[in-house]
Amino acid sequence: MAKKFHQPTRMCLSCREREQQCNLIRFRCVDGELAPFDGVGRSFYLCQNCLKEDKKIIRALMRQCRGGDKDKHMNKLKEIITDDRKS
Ligand SMILES: [Zn+2]
Repeated sequence: MAKKFHQPTRMCLSCREREQQCNLIRFRCVDGELAPFDGVGRSFYLCQNCLKEDKKIIRALMRQCRGGDKDKHMNKLKEIITDDRKS
């Protein structure tokens, strides 16, 4: 596959694959809680493929958010994804 330098790519936190930014959803962690990225602080990305596999991403999330509650993370994640699709 040819490399396209003009397209910014970001790494998915879960599968570590590089994807074009448009195929990724951006999140951040605030005090151990998952939040949509709002332009401040550290952020991370998850790709559309990983977002279909709860078990895969929860591990990445727990690592990134340094603990917290699994169910809470998943609920928040679904909320953020739904919002993202609406806009
Ligand atoms: Zn991924």
